[in-house]
Amino acid sequence: MDKEHLKMLAGNPKFITGIYNYCDRWCERCPFTSRCMNFAIANEQFPDQESSDIYNEAFWRKLSETFQVTLDLLKEAAEREGIDLDSLDVEEVAEEERLNDELAKNHQCCRAAKVYAKMVDNWFDSASDLFGQKEDELNSKVQLDLPNADPAGIAASFEDAVQVIRWYQHQIYIKLMRAIRGRMREEPEILEEFPKDSDGSAKVALIGIDRSMAAWGEIRNHFLVREDVSLDMLGHLDRLRRTAEKVFPAARSFIRPGFDKIDLNS
Ligand code: SF4
Repeated sequence: MDKEHLKMLAGNPKFITGIYNYCDRWCERCPFTSRCMNFAIANEQFPDQESSDIYNEAFWRKLSETFQVTLDLLKEAAEREGIDLDSLDVEEVAEEERLNDELAKNHQCCRAAKVYAKMVDNWFDSASDLFGQKEDELNSKVQLDLPNADPAGIAASFEDAVQVIRWYQHQIYIKLMRAIRGRMREEPEILEEFPKDSDGSAKVALIGIDRSMAAWGEIRNHFLVREDVSLDMLGHLDRLRRTAEKVFPAARSFIRPGFDKIDLNS
């Protein structure tokens, strides 16, 4: 891919500008793949199994080419805006970033999200026997062919719930870190009337929490014997949800390009 092709893609009106900035990166489940420039580039660059294999040499070569094109575009934009990229004090910026990182990691939201990710691992480790039992139970139902039983449907909804939990398990932390760090950089007096990137990131984290809670509800229905543990998980997520909403009161109303509709009556 060359610079001109990238510019041409960026100017294509079918793509929703910036949609990929506030999505959950779950492209396989995204209803906007045909309107996302990121998805189009990834498909163009890595169209088949061989080239999309991250261990494949072709993958890294293409990634390196894309990096070079991106770097050229950055230099071009900096020149246009009169920014001297060499004048940045890299060490000072790195130290500032490190301090911000430490502060964000210690924020109550990020600490709780980190704990949640660990709780999920612990739960799946301790529930491995139950998964086997569930599979046996569903297989026997298939063999018995009982009326009104839908073992395939149950297995699918169970699998979906596990996928949802695993997808957001670490992403909630990552998005909250981005939100907290973004909040540190934003200057409230200047940006008060504009939508804030930190609210957008917090919204993605909140959506991940909501969906994870729904998925835990599903798991709870299947594993009533582990009700206490899944209730702990739900309780923890609910506290995290309420805390994040307090810290980012405007997050829920943040309009994500493509995903959220603008309310013309408000
Ligand atoms: S907007 Fe959808 S297609 Fe694009 S990167 Fe995000 S999840 Fe993937």
